[in-house]
Amino acid sequence: MFEPSAQITSLLTAIAVNESAAAGMRAMMQREQEFPSPTQARLTGIALDPSGRAYADEVLDTAWSDERRQQELLSAERPTREVIIGSGFHAATYAAVRVLSGHPKPLVLERTERVGGSFAMTTRPVFYLNSRNRAGGAGLSGDQGTSLNYLPGAPIQAANVSMAEYQTNTDMAFVIRLALAQFADVVPTATVRSVTPVYPGVELEIEGKAPLIAGRVIDARGLGDPTDQDLANGATILTYPQFMHRMAGMWPLRGARRVAVIGGGDSAKCAVESCLGIAPQPSMAAVALDQVDRVDWYTNDLPTTCDQWRQDIRGRYQAIGRYLRPDRFGVRRLTVLPRRAQPVALPGAGLIDGRTYDLVVVCTGNQETDIDRLDLGDFYEYTTADGIVVAREHYELPAFRVGPHARLPFTARERADGIADIAANAVSMFRTAPKTAALAATLPNLTPN
Ligand SMILES: Cc1cc2nc3c(=O)[nH]c(=O)nc-3n(C[C@H](O)[C@H](O)[C@H](O)COP(=O)(O)OP(=O)(O)OC[C@H]3O[C@@H](n4cnc5c(N)ncnc54)[C@H](O)[C@@H]3O)c2cc1C
Repeated sequence: MFEPSAQITSLLTAIAVNESAAAGMRAMMQREQEFPSPTQARLTGIALDPSGRAYADEVLDTAWSDERRQQELLSAERPTREVIIGSGFHAATYAAVRVLSGHPKPLVLERTERVGGSFAMTTRPVFYLNSRNRAGGAGLSGDQGTSLNYLPGAPIQAANVSMAEYQTNTDMAFVIRLALAQFADVVPTATVRSVTPVYPGVELEIEGKAPLIAGRVIDARGLGDPTDQDLANGATILTYPQFMHRMAGMWPLRGARRVAVIGGGDSAKCAVESCLGIAPQPSMAAVALDQVDRVDWYTNDLPTTCDQWRQDIRGRYQAIGRYLRPDRFGVRRLTVLPRRAQPVALPGAGLIDGRTYDLVVVCTGNQETDIDRLDLGDFYEYTTADGIVVAREHYELPAFRVGPHARLPFTARERADGIADIAANAVSMFRTAPKTAALAATLPNLTPN
């Protein structure tokens, strides 16, 4: 149980006085006794009502973009404060558990304008998560009765924001953003360039802003930017984030009759789903106008036939498999081509192996964003008292890496439970969130010297 923060209180007030945005919140008050607190009932009502949620998102963005507030946060002389780099799921987890464990609010620095990390890359829903929507507390994937998308300490959980089997990126983003509004001070458009020692803490160099002194850094910068960015031209050849931004815009598949997708991971699968019409509905797109006739999928990692697909691929992505065989009119829309492709940008088209495409989506993985002195090699594995590796600690600086880019090894239990058999689980929230929470709950307070 917690008191709503000033930012959450003003969010609730702003919604209450906006007739069209307040309907969900008011309706949910009829079920208030089913929630741990009236605040959680109100936030759930807002999340479940599209106009309430859209307005809440606007209110949060306006508050975070306020320049005077940003200036105050950045200029405050607080050498014992904790600064988190990045504003995604793991930043929110760390901040929530830290504050609920009795420590001061951390300051979160986010390089983009939009707070919330990878799931907040668009304001409209564009992809489905691959972890099933279940109610319950945090827990491993095979542990029924626990939630896979659980954000420890968050004001409301992903299971509160929709009852869909698989939720959208923006469902999860809303949970993350509310947690940050409750438990952190956040400054967007603040790119951290380097971190250097200044006794007894560190100095952060922030692009275009004055340096900032901190007592501890939590490096939650996530998986980073797409590899092969240099192949993309932003028009006919797009990276995965560029493609998803396009999917969030008006009639995103206009003119895209022939599409190639390169790569075999979850991002590529989500891009293929968008082209086949089995991802979240895009804005103002209709099959009469925007049907993708043919998707060529260049990857060495995936089955090429429908039968093989059904056997080898996990439940979340099963629906893609049926497009690998012709429909009853003999039309086959999806072909997996088992080879690596290198697209060439032509005027108005992308070229692969002599075939032209209206659109090529390059989903070949991510590479870390650079922060001077915070390279992976500067960190070693950090364990809690029970011997579990929960983060990485810097050899010299008071800095910790959390989340997927901490590259945490699978535990013996995760191996025994089969979690380690699925490579994508290495970066799954249900695996990394409890570890970030354990770090936040156990690190000592920073005391002034
Ligand atoms: C497209 C996609 C879909 C995914 N789907 C799932 C899923 O369904 N289920 C699941 O369990 N996992 C999923 N994952 C895995 C995912 O990586 C993690 O679960 C989670 O999103 C990572 O959260 P994070 O907070 O560590 O990083 P992110 O959410 O990526 O947030 C990191 C933030 O740091 C910011 N940043 C980076 N560098 C700097 C800098 N120098 N200065 C300031 N800010 C910086 C970035 O802009 C970003 O906002 C997905 C990952 C991606 C990329």
